[in-house]
Amino acid sequence: MTRLSGITPSGHVHLGNHLGAVRRWAADREPEDLFFVSDLHAMTIPHRPERLRALTRETFAILLGVGIEPDSVFVQSDLCGELGALNWVLECTCTFGEAARMIQFKEKAGGQDSVRVGLLTYPVLMSADILLQGATEVPVGTDQDQHVELARALARRFNSTFGEVFAVPKAVVPKTAASIRDLSDPGRKMAKSAQQSPGGVFVLDEPDVISRKFRRAVTDGESEIRYDPETRPGVANLLEILAACTGVSPYAAATSVDSYADLKDTVAAAVIEELRPVRERARELLDDPAELDRVRAQGAKRAAERGRPRLEAAMRVAGLR
Ligand code: ATP
Ligand code: MG
Repeated sequence: MTRLSGITPSGHVHLGNHLGAVRRWAADREPEDLFFVSDLHAMTIPHRPERLRALTRETFAILLGVGIEPDSVFVQSDLCGELGALNWVLECTCTFGEAARMIQFKEKAGGQDSVRVGLLTYPVLMSADILLQGATEVPVGTDQDQHVELARALARRFNSTFGEVFAVPKAVVPKTAASIRDLSDPGRKMAKSAQQSPGGVFVLDEPDVISRKFRRAVTDGESEIRYDPETRPGVANLLEILAACTGVSPYAAATSVDSYADLKDTVAAAVIEELRPVRERARELLDDPAELDRVRAQGAKRAAERGRPRLEAAMRVAGLR
């Protein structure tokens, strides 16, 4: 079993990404698991080159900072030769109808004057990510289920048309974590793509910045601290964050504090401690570009070596080479 998980450098990695995904990846990982920074996917919508480059490095450093081994993590574009070749083979396996049916494409393309073709075809590239590495399980949220289904369909079709080359992957439901809400607007989740919000807490934020953001978190006009996500989303979010950082239930977290000020200070302190080791290790790497490049090249080499025999086999049976 090989599980493959990716994160797109579409913005700074935030507390929701950390608690909901990255931290679990590190904690639950098996030796065969693979992780990657999907920088090619970040180009499907208008992007700024320098920002993409910086966010890719930052996200990669955070994956290492959280404790994932250098051998099991890579940056997608470092494999652009292998992935580009397989992508083409898979584009010629996929029908236009299949690509155009993707709900996420319809959602993201809807209402835009200009849409990059890459936004339409990126699920095929995602299939290449999965099939190149021989991943058998892809932990994804429901928004990505359809893309893994496509990878499955393409693997099956290719195998039955040309010869058995690809493992047929399946989507697996990751262990669910509470969706962390934006501190200034608990009505929406913290998101990489909402970088301008003052209510986003980022993994690389300094402690004083984190404290300030929590002090300004939106709560409500009541005085009693109670966990009630339905009617009191702001307070519930703070309790869920505190609970996730301290390993207790949100209900128990509610009884451990006695005022809003106390709650905000306590949760800020817990988040600072939770993120401190990750931030320190990631910063160390970011401050040593030569070391970061070395680790990155090593991860890319391993991933390319793992994938190349499968790519060669696919090209051969498809009549290339
Ligand atoms: P974008 O705005 O670009 O979609 P995002 O912040 O939603 O970015 P994703 O790249 O979509 O992040 O997701 C990466 C991982 O982080 C996924 O496993 C997703 O479930 C998890 N995740 C994202 N946002 C949150 C959140 N607010 N709370 C908990 N988990 C989250
Ligand atoms: Mg998202």
